[in-house]
Amino acid sequence: CGIVGYIGNRDSQSILVEGLKKLEYRGYDSAGVAIVTGTGLAVKKAKGRLAELESRLHSEPLAGTVGIGHTRWATHGKPSDANSHPHTDTTSKFSVVHNGIIENYAELRRELAAKGHVFVSETDTEVVSHLIADLYQGDIVKAVSEATRHIRGAFALAILTEHEPDKLVAVRQSSPLIIGVGDGENFIGSDIPAILQHTRNVYILDDHEMAVLTRSGVELMTIEGNFIAKQLSTVDWDL
Ligand code: GLU
Repeated sequence: CGIVGYIGNRDSQSILVEGLKKLEYRGYDSAGVAIVTGTGLAVKKAKGRLAELESRLHSEPLAGTVGIGHTRWATHGKPSDANSHPHTDTTSKFSVVHNGIIENYAELRRELAAKGHVFVSETDTEVVSHLIADLYQGDIVKAVSEATRHIRGAFALAILTEHEPDKLVAVRQSSPLIIGVGDGENFIGSDIPAILQHTRNVYILDDHEMAVLTRSGVELMTIEGNFIAKQLSTVDWDL
């Protein structure tokens, strides 16, 4: 339902939670974040209000400057801690947040389980993190691009892997996604309010487009990985 991503030099945890708060108006049943900390990728997620996630993060903060966050509106699998996003793979090195529906998830799940992937949720989304891990050969952008050739349905995805902790990948197909451009920091949002307090400069992704964010820049490409040029838009309204 709601997606936020941050890469920069500030502490990501509060930026992600504040961004998710701005998307609360859309409704949700659970929330979570994945952040690359000093000891690797860490995920915290909880069924219920954002306050529940916040209190867990308060008692055990995740320190790191790159992360993704999500508020979920369940379509496949009941609202629960395990079904909340971000979802990870069996090695817990890849994390994914997703808006939309993966139509062929059951078939993909069978194939990946047969290859040894261990599933821990009932969601359609979890196949995406396992699929990316399965396809990964040292280049997360390539792995995401490959993965989108196997999945059918509607998706806005933000991906973060511990293997390439200075990079966020965003990709969309039929679900909205925007990229916020800052100074030494960049953002992902499923909607402008998620990032508006940080920047007014945005790329509005179209279907079939992918963005790769580092601290210093944003690269835009087709889902197949061909670079594209895109007009930067300026948001001229306030919340
Ligand atoms: N289909 C996914 C799920 O049920 C994503 C739902 C959403 O868009 O929040 O977990």
